[in-house]
Amino acid sequence: MSKSYRDRGRTAPVGSRGREETFRCRHCKLLVGAVPSGGKHRNHCPSCLYSRHVDGKMPGDRASDCRSSMAPVAVFTRPNGEYVLVHRCLGCGFERYNRIAADDNFERVLALPEVQMPRHDTADKETPMTA
Ligand SMILES: [Zn+2]
Ligand SMILES: [Zn+2]
Repeated sequence: MSKSYRDRGRTAPVGSRGREETFRCRHCKLLVGAVPSGGKHRNHCPSCLYSRHVDGKMPGDRASDCRSSMAPVAVFTRPNGEYVLVHRCLGCGFERYNRIAADDNFERVLALPEVQMPRHDTADKETPMTA
């Protein structure tokens, strides 16, 4: 997929509505686009797996103004085999769980230390559970 095609092919509205799905990874400088499939929104870089601390307690709430980089520090698997990344903020130490996306660099996911599934698994779920 060529960069210029993506830049010119669409007349994206500039400003105001800023598409949250697109961002420049601050760690590896990759321009990250929307999730191709199997996800609602992208919250980390598919290449280096780094994220950014923009959410507060709930994934996607954009309630934090920390804005520091969040490093992938571990991974765990759910009973259904789904992989979930543990991100830790380099600025404030906040930890968050994020499901991996369909096009994440899976080798990097597997290279992370595997930990037990935390009791409070707050990452996105396909079928939200209220427990
Ligand atoms: Zn990256
Ligand atoms: Zn933070």
